[in-house]
Amino acid sequence: MLWIERVEKQKRELTMSEETYKGIPRTKIPWHPTIDYKKCVNCGKCVEYCKLGVYNFEENLGKKQPIVKNPNNCVVLCTGCQDICSSDAITHQSRKETVGFIRKLLRQVRQ
Ligand code: SF4
Ligand code: SF4
Repeated sequence: MLWIERVEKQKRELTMSEETYKGIPRTKIPWHPTIDYKKCVNCGKCVEYCKLGVYNFEENLGKKQPIVKNPNNCVVLCTGCQDICSSDAITHQSRKETVGFIRKLLRQVRQ
């Protein structure tokens, strides 16, 4: 079985990641990877690395490219795929700003 087939199989077997984070609906927290296609070399390592179905490898203009298909499956504050991308093509939102934003939402939820 090719590695890409193994990844697709793993993704099918996985359930979505948590739908809430500390009681906050996950959809309210803007945390997900963004790919800079000027830097991306389509190696597929991010797709293989993340087991949560955030990425998909899709055909675009005759070549396979990673896309961020399910951004809300991304684990809040995880930067695993960013760290393993040797082309430095993946970024996430500011961790500091995201933590501040979550704290603000938590204060609102508890009021
Ligand atoms: S690991 Fe980086 S270079 Fe490789 S496909 Fe993903 S974004 Fe592109
Ligand atoms: S940051 Fe973590 S959870 Fe999010 S897409 Fe990358 S590896 Fe997956």
